[in-house]
Amino acid sequence: MKKLIAGNWKMNGSLAANEALVKAMLDGLQGSAPAADMALCVPAPYLAQLQSLLQGSPVAWGAQDVSAHEQGAYTGEVSVAMLKDFGCRYAIVGHSERRQYHGETDALVAAKAQRALAAGVTPIVCVGETLDEREAGQTEAVVKRQLAAVIHAVAHCTSEIVVAYEPVWAIGTGKTATPDMAQQVHAVLRAQLSAATQHPERVHILYGGSMNAANAASLLAQPDIDGGLIGGASLKAADFLQIVAAAR
Ligand code: 13P
Repeated sequence: MKKLIAGNWKMNGSLAANEALVKAMLDGLQGSAPAADMALCVPAPYLAQLQSLLQGSPVAWGAQDVSAHEQGAYTGEVSVAMLKDFGCRYAIVGHSERRQYHGETDALVAAKAQRALAAGVTPIVCVGETLDEREAGQTEAVVKRQLAAVIHAVAHCTSEIVVAYEPVWAIGTGKTATPDMAQQVHAVLRAQLSAATQHPERVHILYGGSMNAANAASLLAQPDIDGGLIGGASLKAADFLQIVAAAR
């Protein structure tokens, strides 16, 4: 399976900065096929811009969230139909920053994943433990609970999701899980997917949390690490392309 390297710009960017960044990335690829599948998940107001910049390129694009509702009186929400209007292939759901700062529960994350899948947008489902949970020996239990809610909601479509293991303590901190630590959790997630789908090997399980040009190769060499979800380093074209190259 080809690896998937997805950038998560979070709440960063401007029309001018995005154009420069995307053009530098596309220039860096120089028309050749990248070593991994690539995607950029950007703030909703910039989806139209990304669509026009990336159309016809090997880089897909997506959103960082999607509403669990179909349409209607939900001020501030963005529906999956709207994401589809702008050609989104992916939508991140359940990022720890949404769970932490916006009170998203396992049930809401599952509903969002289900809504995305039903419309043909691939949800990138984030799971991961906090530092307190890791220190209390709860890592496995936490990620399994988070993934179980989604597996239950999407039922027979489980092989069509992307899972991202993002230990909360590693996000934006410069502290990366060691390749062994990450692999251990990825193996747990793979086993859980095996019980729910006939094709667990088709599910990309990405690692996220301070992945960068220097540590990407050793993380991506692990048997159950199928790619990366990249925050900070996706805002620099050279760094992001080095991570993509490390997926070879
Ligand atoms: P950083 O790569 O900045 O640690 O962010 C990871 C992340 O949260 C991606 O979704």
